[in-house]
Amino acid sequence: MPSLRQFKHKLASGLAWLPVSLSRRLNCRRPMIAVYHVVSDHPHPHYRHILECKSAEDFAKDMDFLLRHYAPLDLKQLIDAVRNGRPMSNRTFHVTFDDGLRDTWINAGPILRQKGIPATFFLNTAFIDNRAMGYRHKTSLLIERLAREPAGELRGQIECILGGAGIPGRTEEERIFRVRYRQAGLLDNIARVLQVDFAEYLAGQQPYMTGGDIEDLIKQGFTIGAHSIDHPYYADLTPDEQLRQTRESVEYLVGRFALPYRAFAFPYADIGVSPVLFDIARKTGMLDISFGTCGVREDACRMNLQRTMMDGYGLSARQRIVNAYLGYSLRALVGRGRINRNDTHAR
Ligand SMILES: [Zn+2]
Repeated sequence: MPSLRQFKHKLASGLAWLPVSLSRRLNCRRPMIAVYHVVSDHPHPHYRHILECKSAEDFAKDMDFLLRHYAPLDLKQLIDAVRNGRPMSNRTFHVTFDDGLRDTWINAGPILRQKGIPATFFLNTAFIDNRAMGYRHKTSLLIERLAREPAGELRGQIECILGGAGIPGRTEEERIFRVRYRQAGLLDNIARVLQVDFAEYLAGQQPYMTGGDIEDLIKQGFTIGAHSIDHPYYADLTPDEQLRQTRESVEYLVGRFALPYRAFAFPYADIGVSPVLFDIARKTGMLDISFGTCGVREDACRMNLQRTMMDGYGLSARQRIVNAYLGYSLRALVGRGRINRNDTHAR
């Protein structure tokens, strides 16, 4: 039986003939905001087991497609529209990148510059300058290392660590993949068993952008925003911890890079974010704008804009966008086109 993901891919591929102009008419009046994680022709071990990335060629095709159907907007124009309550056009687009991976900047940067497309890079402040590694990137590195490990004593030890923590899965790889933010210490224990040295990898491979990269990026006219301190899943955090992760990461970037704006993208998704956080952000000026990843949706919180995922998985920007428009139309039909922030579980 096909999985839900395979079914969605089939549906998206089958519907890709629909003209974007027609499907856009079904859409709410929101800009098309694209989110990517990695653009690379040679996916590196620290993300290749957790993300599917776009090749530089496919990414350039996506950008050409967006330019044919939409007018580019920069972050300041988006903030302006949010701040002044101006109606937004669904004939505009903005490109964003999450997680601050250096490969993305190296590969996507020249394409964006060449085509004159503004973009915003969302960064985890703990990882800038390669001072620490995100737990999902540790997951990918460990799965990479395990591929060389035959059944035997080491796999037995890992089984013990993960089984003892009650993490389900048919294989060690599957179980490692399911380790969550609060259980990240398990990954360090497994790394010791497999003799994977995260600090050495950080120093040798420099997987994240450095302060120098970020200064270059800003000089070239691109914008940045925070993506939390160390990439937790917000639904698993208390409201106080959600607020701390948001406030401290934004303050850090504003202070270090002298930013005249405050932008934030929720890690993973904005499902389960406390309505209090949006209230505080709006009333205190903690944020000028924030972003989720629910595709094409309206949001009861006007400063929070939803983005459409454009990463690999064999789908072009056209397929992703038509799929997102149809998803919105179907939701709108049953009265769920708008995310209601009083209901923290709104989907
Ligand atoms: Zn992220």
